[in-house]
Amino acid sequence: MPSSKPASKPKFHRVILKISGEALRQPHKGDSIDNAKLTTICKEIKAAHRLGVQIGIVVGGGNIFRGLAGERLSGVDRTTGDHMGMLATIINGLALMDCLEKLGVATRVQSAITVAKFAEPFILRRAVRHMEKKRVVIFVAGTGNPYFSTDTTAALRANEIGAEILLKGTKVDGIYDKDPVKHKDAKRYTKLPFMEALRRRLCIMDSTAFSLCMDNRLPILVFDLNKPGNIRKALMGKRIGTLVQED
Ligand code: UDP
Repeated sequence: MPSSKPASKPKFHRVILKISGEALRQPHKGDSIDNAKLTTICKEIKAAHRLGVQIGIVVGGGNIFRGLAGERLSGVDRTTGDHMGMLATIINGLALMDCLEKLGVATRVQSAITVAKFAEPFILRRAVRHMEKKRVVIFVAGTGNPYFSTDTTAALRANEIGAEILLKGTKVDGIYDKDPVKHKDAKRYTKLPFMEALRRRLCIMDSTAFSLCMDNRLPILVFDLNKPGNIRKALMGKRIGTLVQED
């Protein structure tokens, strides 16, 4: 008799995955984009996408340029530096597109600033239509405005496209009550209410991004992007990382 046990289904229908620029770089190495790291992440996205979940990606640019650091390090005016940072996210987005397409995943890149030669403009309804057609949409150029971050972009796009959750891939496997590198007894939260995260001044995201999620009741899953299988697990609703949500 064949087993009648139903195949387990993903918990989510549509999500935004935030990938920082640093995730594409090999620590302590010169290259802004490391081919091995890029390929590993894209293979993880491919495996997760196979579950049938609609995935939008917001990619950062911190591996190449950040406006705030640019002002400090090279004297570039903050607004100009932010424009440079947004351009950096386009470079990363194109790298993700290229790698995903080579792995057989259909993608579209949508940009918040006009780069008509190689990216579509961000058009909400078109982005949703792409996702419905099983294309991974890569949102680049942040919000298109200086003084914002790609975390805020991720919160914004997640709300706009009607994502059920914002998956924030990081270097650590969630949020701890103290620095896990310095304190061996640091405890990881599995769940955390928004207000508690605010009260404890936990730096999950910048405050604009965080309040956008809190005000619109959009849960955030903070998880280790480098651990194989984690994006898939997150989509399946497995208990990984820290889930920040309404009480
Ligand atoms: N940026 C911006 N507006 C946005 C998003 C990003 O001006 O809406 C600029 C800003 O300079 C930022 C840089 O792009 O520092 C790269 O984004 P971010 O620092 O969020 O990248 P990540 O840290 O995720 O790699």
